[in-house]
Amino acid sequence: MPTQPRFAPLAALLLLGLTAPAGAQDKGSVNPRPLPPLADPDAPSTPAKELFGRAATPAPGPAHPYGSYAKGCFSGGEALPVDGATWQVMRLSRNRMWGTPHLVDFIERLAAKAPKVGWTGLLVGDMSQPRGGPMLTGHASHQLGLDADVWLTPMPSHRMSRAEREETSATDMVRGDRLDIDPRVWTPEHLRLIRLTAQQPEVARIFVNAAIKKALCREAGGDRGWLTKVRPMYGHNYHYHIRLACPDGAGECGDQAPPPAGDGCGEELAYWFSDAVLHPKPPKVKPKPRPPMTMAALPAACRSVLKTR
Ligand SMILES: [Zn+2]
Repeated sequence: MPTQPRFAPLAALLLLGLTAPAGAQDKGSVNPRPLPPLADPDAPSTPAKELFGRAATPAPGPAHPYGSYAKGCFSGGEALPVDGATWQVMRLSRNRMWGTPHLVDFIERLAAKAPKVGWTGLLVGDMSQPRGGPMLTGHASHQLGLDADVWLTPMPSHRMSRAEREETSATDMVRGDRLDIDPRVWTPEHLRLIRLTAQQPEVARIFVNAAIKKALCREAGGDRGWLTKVRPMYGHNYHYHIRLACPDGAGECGDQAPPPAGDGCGEELAYWFSDAVLHPKPPKVKPKPRPPMTMAALPAACRSVLKTR
């Protein structure tokens, strides 16, 4: 993956493909309609998201991520169990509770630690599709089985029903003017949970809304090393995004360049509150939508990941 220029939220936006916010708040259905079969799935022009979006089960075989966060797939996927003592998976209809065993183990361990920082438990949003790859809606990353969204809403004390998991809304943590967090919903435990996550050695990056990063910068106190991993991003006002580094020995997994040193609380953060970012002028000529990614853009191994039964 190319190195991200220092002040490049737009490049970062393209990288994550967040044309629309990832949508933890989008409701699901207990009875999702199955996707119609494709007329010609093997045509080279078939968008890869149409193929991976129809893969309902993991690719058998040893766990292996192939490619990069926004152009990749994985074999040997595991589902995070929908319930644990300190986590619950949301929006089950999306079937995005999959990841490499490395990610699944990580989420389970993080969830176990959450109560120690005063967070009742994790509401887990989108991870990956069973075989990863691009998705029909939402994110452009989350393809490698190493990304997970966690809601910024603490887990309730009861086991949520299927319907509640589809219909409950996440909490918007950002104030209407987008310049800061909403103090009516932001708590010290939010900082503690994000800090706990950033302090885990497996974590490469965390994405949050710039207003949330601003609050973290203000409230972090003297221990600031963990802030390096917490990167401002569009959206991410309902959930935070955890990105793990490639696990040891995953030879065909492409890490992203490490984030720039420092806490990222200075000039870089200020840029996100500039007029150009907060109130971008609409382009004079509407840019042509980029054609969707096809299998040719993904590592060759992803063809077998897709086909293996
Ligand atoms: Zn995400």
